[in-house]
Amino acid sequence: MDEKGYIVSSLSFLLMIPAILLVFIIFTVNNIGTEPSSIAIQSKNVFYEVNDLKNNIPRISKKVINEISMQVIDRGAVNDSREVVKEKLQLKINQILAKSEFNDGLRINCTVLSVETGDDPFIIQINSTIHVSKNTVVHEENISQNISIEGLPDCLPFIVCSEFGKPEIIEDKIYYNSYLFEFLNNKNISNSEVYINATSPFLIKKCPYHPYTVHGNLLNLKNCIENGYYHESNDGACYLCRLEGKNTCPHYGIETFIIPQCMKNSTFIMAPCSIDHVLFNKTSFYGMGIDYYQNNLYYYKIFLDNGHRLKYGINH
Ligand SMILES: [Zn+2]
Ligand SMILES: [Zn+2]
Repeated sequence: MDEKGYIVSSLSFLLMIPAILLVFIIFTVNNIGTEPSSIAIQSKNVFYEVNDLKNNIPRISKKVINEISMQVIDRGAVNDSREVVKEKLQLKINQILAKSEFNDGLRINCTVLSVETGDDPFIIQINSTIHVSKNTVVHEENISQNISIEGLPDCLPFIVCSEFGKPEIIEDKIYYNSYLFEFLNNKNISNSEVYINATSPFLIKKCPYHPYTVHGNLLNLKNCIENGYYHESNDGACYLCRLEGKNTCPHYGIETFIIPQCMKNSTFIMAPCSIDHVLFNKTSFYGMGIDYYQNNLYYYKIFLDNGHRLKYGINH
């Protein structure tokens, strides 16, 4: 072979490496001198297809988790949410890959390995392996992707109240009507009536107030409550465990406020604690009332135990 031509083609080959799947292309290239453009197109296609799949997994995962959560709201908790998400996600990916047409002989598969709560409780981690093969050449790649749970529905309140009725969903809020009161009253908890017509957020939103002690400024607390934010929590269940109907779990989780209906007077000093996982618990804890807002007609209150007062910087 002409030495100069050899060097030039080696160089162009090196330049192409970042844009191609490594091992795969080395074996496919037979005649780099005469067909560089068609090889470039082919490798671009492989690169594109694999990246397209990679970019799509988070979007498909979020859609799948959203669907499962909505099913839980209608039909009740699942036993093993990680397995349910994993199976449904695998099915969806298989369907998408079956519909895709790749260049002759090219095969792309994706195996979902696991679905887990991230170290950050607002993240769900999806681990998978992508397999690419053409003829006898195989390329495998393990990927780990983070899905934000923001914007997904909170199904736990519906599971908790299911014995008494289905709370209403209006825009991004849950309206409990009498069902949460009935749930609490059934456990003989006094002052449960403050939760008649209570509300809580329907969609997960991460609270932007950091550190959490700035909630001690009641304007921040009011804004947090009105926006329906969620907070990181050692005791509150993570998103995946909520799908199983758990209010607490071993993972680092999330919590939100359950908001009693506004009151004409401020006579309630103590009532069941307004933190979701505490209120939904089998044994109940009481909290002291905090008037986070009042106007001429109404008092707006939540009730917090000492631990949560400390967490949110409330000393009133
Ligand atoms: Zn907040
Ligand atoms: Zn969990």
